Amino acid sequence: MKKVLFSPPDITETEIEAVSQVLRSGWITTGPVTKTFEETLARFLGVSRVVCMNSATAGMEMVLRLWGIGPGDEVITTPLTFAATLNVILHVGARPILVDIEPNSYHIDPSLVASAITKRTKAILAVDYGGWSADYDRLLEVANTYKKHFHPKKNTPQEWLDRPLVMADAAHSLGAIYKGKKAGSVADISVFSFHAVKNLTTAEGGCVCWSERLHEHDQAIEKGLRLLMLHGQNKDARQKYEGGGWQYAIEIPGYKCNLTDIAAAIGLSQLQRYESMLAKRKLYFNTYNKHFASLPHITLPSNPLWDGESSYHLYPLQVPASQRNEIISSLSSAGIQANVHFIPLYHHPAYRYLGYTPHHFPLTEKFYQKEISLPLSSAHTLEDIETVIEHCLFLLSPPK
Ligand SMILES: *Cc1c(COP(=O)(O)O)cnc(C)c1O
Repeated sequence: MKKVLFSPPDITETEIEAVSQVLRSGWITTGPVTKTFEETLARFLGVSRVVCMNSATAGMEMVLRLWGIGPGDEVITTPLTFAATLNVILHVGARPILVDIEPNSYHIDPSLVASAITKRTKAILAVDYGGWSADYDRLLEVANTYKKHFHPKKNTPQEWLDRPLVMADAAHSLGAIYKGKKAGSVADISVFSFHAVKNLTTAEGGCVCWSERLHEHDQAIEKGLRLLMLHGQNKDARQKYEGGGWQYAIEIPGYKCNLTDIAAAIGLSQLQRYESMLAKRKLYFNTYNKHFASLPHITLPSNPLWDGESSYHLYPLQVPASQRNEIISSLSSAGIQANVHFIPLYHHPAYRYLGYTPHHFPLTEKFYQKEISLPLSSAHTLEDIETVIEHCLFLLSPPK
């Protein structure tokens, strides 16, 4: 039986050769390849600078810490996401405030964000579900409207914008477009993931970038993140080795979440052919759509309500809730790995103490009950996708 994995990594001989080169070079941790990866990413995203880390989770946490967000502060986010989005808010000691998604969308509802804002709100953390950017124009508008009530913490970057930070969990959306602009340049700060199942991978990895609105603070943001992510040292490992420069200072008790050159080499190879990887994803996505369009009781993945293009990270199909689990196990018996994105955060035992129940999030809950993510990766062949379609058509067609 031919297996169709959910999201196999798209690794070619080019990545393997690039990794071997780093291994043979004598320098394997953060160094010249990471630097080139960051510069190439910045050009791809159309932003001034990119800072790589060893995960999106670390990237989001370092941003919250740089912004001086902590105990007594609130961060508004969505329950339709992976645990990472919520965990980082808890790690810095802030209080997460969850609000529901918008109708016919996968994204946090800006009008619910507006009603959830208080004088303690320091950030809005939206999630680019499935590869579509959240509605950042409206989220920025909500944040700006709140300006007059905002109390920035003294001597923190909160003073720069003088309103809540609008941040993107862009783990899914590398290469997506929002109203003509690349994801990464739209929210105040965006964090991408290069985890093994994501569109572009470094096995584990991620990066942080920010919009032009913060341009005058480019240097401060970059320096702040680099201090936070490497023990607060004022030199990185490479600088310490060069020219006998053994002296360094610890400026803050920082964290440890740098990306290695081994990982960056994988990412750099992938980035060089990323446009063709995206094109494949789009082809597979549209092939699914074409075959499922005429099925009754099915909702195809919706386009966002605004002008844009997905990075086609997920293919989230909605089927009747009563059949959802059965379809996933039938696919599994046929060697096809499907998945669910996501088990909403309020269902997890770790977060029960926050007091949220499904009743607070009717749209997220309804979507969750019906959702199946079908296999989608640039490592798949069109044949793989056709195998999945064949099984789905059999399972989803009305009985004759
Ligand atoms: C994968 C994922 C993350 C975490 O990314 P890491 O790089 O593994 O830390 C965060 N948010 C969402 C929505 C994700 O899918």
